[in-house]
This record gives sequence, structure tokens and C-alpha cells, in this order.
Amino acid sequence: MNIHEHQAKDILVKHGLPIPMGEVATTPDEAYAAAQKLGGPVVVKAQVLVGGRGKAGGVKLARTPEEARDKAKAILGMNIKGIIVKKVLIAPAVDIAREIYLGMVIDRSQKAVVMMASAAGGVDIEEVARETPEKIIRLPIDPSLGLRDYQARDVAFDLGLQGPQIKEFTQIAKGLYEAFGETDASLAEVNPLVVTPEGKLLAIDAKMNFDDSALFRQPDLEGLRDEAEESPDERDAREAGLNYIELDGTIGCLVNGAGLAMATMDTVKLYGGEPANFLDIGGGARADKVTAALKIILRDPNVKAVLVNIFGGITRVDEVAKGIQAAFQETGTQVPFVVRLVGTNEDAGREMLKGLNVTWAGTLSEAAEKAAQAARGNA
Ligand code: GDP
Ligand code: MN
Repeated sequence: MNIHEHQAKDILVKHGLPIPMGEVATTPDEAYAAAQKLGGPVVVKAQVLVGGRGKAGGVKLARTPEEARDKAKAILGMNIKGIIVKKVLIAPAVDIAREIYLGMVIDRSQKAVVMMASAAGGVDIEEVARETPEKIIRLPIDPSLGLRDYQARDVAFDLGLQGPQIKEFTQIAKGLYEAFGETDASLAEVNPLVVTPEGKLLAIDAKMNFDDSALFRQPDLEGLRDEAEESPDERDAREAGLNYIELDGTIGCLVNGAGLAMATMDTVKLYGGEPANFLDIGGGARADKVTAALKIILRDPNVKAVLVNIFGGITRVDEVAKGIQAAFQETGTQVPFVVRLVGTNEDAGREMLKGLNVTWAGTLSEAAEKAAQAARGNA
């Protein structure tokens, strides 16, 4: 789950990060009032759950409340990467001498949270990561020791910080690491962390993503979800209790069990196909869940074939077949299906799918091969 900049700032300020705090506005008049209250120049910032707002024109300086109103008027309703801006953050403007990048991410290969920092922070950080990765410092943090002061100090020196900035940076990095751990984050990022002309460090942008699987123990975070910005597929999948991740291939996959889903995707690739998604319907799924899953899969225009791989145990094959039947009826889909349905009530399931555009396969290899062929034939 992602949250907005202003929400991430609310969290990080509690962990001691030096953040010039602002106010959220949903109308130009509210922006005017917020700017007047803050006094002095402000930045008007689109609150949308995508990066690169600055480059898209969603971050603008305003010297006066009147200007804040005008800039808010221009930004509210703006379309940034497919998302319509509904609110703006009015934050005190800051003079900038340098922009630093600072982030915490989970690095699975290191089995640790990795702190990333770069003196080349700001709006071009993606390009820096791509073209000059050596400009990004990576520090794996031992989970049992946490981020030690000396480690943060080392990074501060490498970033070219000096004097009191070293201590300021150490506190910021430790605060960010602490916030990351406490909220079960998967990403916590400050970009830019600016050095002002007076030499002070200020965090003027913030971004946090959280691990969806940990939200059950983060009741405060669940309330921050902005449903308006979830894609319809993500929302429907979440509400139906499905583990669904969209990918860019052409074969829609419906599988029970995450391990089997991954094995299915691998096998699809082995036979020259590309999965359009990862989808685990879980154990014991009933027909309506299967139908909901197939409707999400079939909404993706890239899907040229569907592969259903169900190992019937607690999940009953006839229930799955009933769900497939309903999906055909409700969507009128022409997309070819390849099904490998084995186990509990297999014969009943087979009977139910007669007359539909469904090819049976006995093994996973056969199913993957046929699905890859069907997708190519239907491309
Ligand atoms: P992003 O593009 O979505 O990452 O939005 P940011 O909040 O990071 O803003 C993008 C860029 O706008 C920053 O890298 C800064 O260069 C600039 N910017 C943002 N806030 C201020 C500010 O208060 N003062 C000045 N001078 N520039 C700012
Ligand atoms: Mn930024």
C-alpha cells in the first residue's frame, strides 16, 4: 500500500525528521488560506500516488497567497500519469543549496533493510540509478543491531556533509530506519533531503510504501488508504481476497496456492509464453471467487489465453468449474482457456465445462505448452 506525501510526512515528523510541515487543500481558496496561515513563500504540491510530480508540473512555487491560489487552481484537476489531482499540499518553500537522496528498502538478496543514499538526489534519481549506479551508496543494516551511529556517520561523510550536518544526518537516517521498521514499510524515502544555503538539513519530500501482508497489525495505516487511487483491478482483487499482481505478458493465470502459481508461471515461460499476472485464489475457494478472479484477468486487453491450474484438494474442481462457467456467461469472453483441473470432484468439473472454449490438459507441462500456443494463435 502506498500513501501520500503529506501522510508520510506526518509519520516521519514523529520520528524526528526535520520537515517543514504544511497543510492539505482541496480547493484554490483553501490553498490561499493555507498559504496565508503559513506566511511567506510556499510550494503547491500535487498529492498523487505516483512519482515524478515535479517533472509533470505538479510542484510549483508561490510567493504570495494569491499566487498559491492560482497555482492550486492549475494543479487541482491536472492529470498526472493517469491520476487526476484531487488535493494539494501547501508547504513552506525552502531555499536549496544541495539535494540528497535518502531511502530505506528491503533487499531480499541481502536479507536486510538497505539504506541508500546519494549526493545526486532530486528529480533525476532514477536516471542516476540507471546510468551511474556507483553514485548511490548502499548500506545493508544488520536487523539485530539496527543502524549504528558510526555507519550513518560514514555515509554522511561520503555524501560530503560537514560539521553539525553529520549529526543531523545521523538522526535523520536513524529516524527513517525506525519509522520503516515500526510501520512494516517496504520503502521509506526522502528525496530530496536538502541542504539549505545556511547549511541545515530539511526533508522536503517523503514517500512510504507498506507491506500489505503486515497491515493487519497496523490498524492506523489501513485508515490512510486512498481507494480512489487504487487501480480497479487491485481494489477488486483485494476485496475478493485474491493475491493478484499484474504483469505484462499475454497468458492470464489462475492458480490455487502461491507456490503452484509461481511454478505455473515458470513453466509458462519455459514453453515460450509470458504470464499476464500472478494470481493465487488461495485454498478452498468457492465459485464466486473464481469468477471474480477471471473477470479481473479478462479485463486485461493483453490477455490472449487463460491458463487455469488447480490442484483440487480442499479446493473442489467442480466449484472451480462452476466459477469458470459463470465467468464465460457473465463476460461472453472469446479468449481460449486451457485448464488443468485435477483432484477432488474432477469428473463433475469436466462435465460442467463441456461446450465451452476450454482445452483440457493432464499435466502442468502440457497445460503451459497449450496455453503458450493458444496465446500465440490468438495474438
Ligand atoms: P517529486 O517530483 O514528486 O519527487 O516532488 P518533490 O517534492 O521531490 O519536488 C520536486 C523538486 O521540486 C525537488 O527536487 C526540488 O528541486 C523542487 N522543490 C520542491 N520543493 C521545493 C522548495 O520548497 N523550494 C525549492 N526551491 N524547490 C523545491
Ligand atoms: Mn521527490
